[in-house]
Amino acid sequence: MALKHTPVKLAIVGGGAAGIFAASVASEQDVPCVLIERKARIGSKLLMTANGRCNFAKDISVERFISDVGPCGPFVAEAIRDCPPRSLAAGFKSHGVPVRRMTDGRFFPADGKATTVVHAFGDLLRDRGVPILTNCPVTGIQPVKNGFIVATANFTLWAENVLLATGGVSYPKLGSVGDGQNFARALGHRLVPYRPGLIGLETDDRRVVSRAGASIDGAHVRVSAPDGQPVFDGTGEVDFERFGLSGAAIYNAQRHIVHAGLRRYTLDVDLGHEQLRFHDLQPRPLKEAIVTIGGVNTAEIDPHTMESRLVPHLYFAGEVMDIDGPTGGYNLTMAFATAKRAVLSLRGGRAP
Ligand SMILES: Cc1cc2nc3c(=O)[nH]c(=O)nc-3n(C[C@H](O)[C@H](O)[C@H](O)COP(=O)(O)OP(=O)(O)OC[C@H]3O[C@@H](n4cnc5c(N)ncnc54)[C@H](O)[C@@H]3O)c2cc1C
Repeated sequence: MALKHTPVKLAIVGGGAAGIFAASVASEQDVPCVLIERKARIGSKLLMTANGRCNFAKDISVERFISDVGPCGPFVAEAIRDCPPRSLAAGFKSHGVPVRRMTDGRFFPADGKATTVVHAFGDLLRDRGVPILTNCPVTGIQPVKNGFIVATANFTLWAENVLLATGGVSYPKLGSVGDGQNFARALGHRLVPYRPGLIGLETDDRRVVSRAGASIDGAHVRVSAPDGQPVFDGTGEVDFERFGLSGAAIYNAQRHIVHAGLRRYTLDVDLGHEQLRFHDLQPRPLKEAIVTIGGVNTAEIDPHTMESRLVPHLYFAGEVMDIDGPTGGYNLTMAFATAKRAVLSLRGGRAP
């Protein structure tokens, strides 16, 4: 009997937030797919989010979301309109994950456990018969006449379409080591240089290190450029660490410093009873960052479809691209929304 080879419709490379969500949308839409993950289990980084609690979205309008994420707002706008943050909360509920809304609008699974989210999606993919290959690092992607040859250490797979959902380069132990960016670069894509996003700032200032372990909620944090121009003004948690400062307000300030391209700046931290001023603090290393700033240049990706403008049938979702947002569920929402956009556009062909 002659063997008949047929390609899989969609190979999803990376079983993180974006890849899992893409597989769930594909199975809903009857798009045959395979999910390929280099680690022993899917969703390793998802399990770590918000200290294991998974802040997956925020109860805000689409317009507010697009404005809050800043530079990547225009690129993700259509994906977010298609998959608004509030719809994610409803979607989680329908997948058997009760949701809790915090007073500041952040959504979490009601039991405060990221494991509930990963298990629910894992069960859903299993029930819908989606093949999941774990312990299976993809090592290369080669365009061929009718799709791509997706190479792994042990076998190759023929796919009509490939979705790269391999994440950024922070927390490499959780599997995101920059493979997708390297595949994209080998196929002609340009990469925006990596920088750490949402990370602590180092200082050996005695006023900070002597209080290591303390946490102040509602601190007012401001960043200004050397000419006095305000760059960031926000309120939130500030944590004192042995290395310096962390906490949501510091993370968001640090992200704005990077996006403003500032080497020199003033950071004012108003704790209510005390005002602290710092200059030009260095961020912690990229491997500790919550998000990677940089990645595949979005100018070379069609925002309507998430398809490469250079390589037809190659798609992107999540942090592998140069997209990043503040703390508060924005990064997971963008991973989910871009994944959904990619799969829907693949199903319906090119969006008008
Ligand atoms: C400590 C921490 C806390 C966070 N908390 C939050 C939060 O509360 N809310 C929020 O919105 N965001 C949070 N984030 C950010 C958020 O987790 C990421 O933005 C999001 O996970 C990105 O999703 P992704 O699917 O693009 O990448 P990832 O979730 O990193 O998934 C990428 C997957 O691809 C796999 N992979 C990589 N290379 C290959 C390969 N060659 N072959 C096969 N598989 C491969 C990896 O193993 C990984 O499983 C947090 C991040 C960290 C590190």
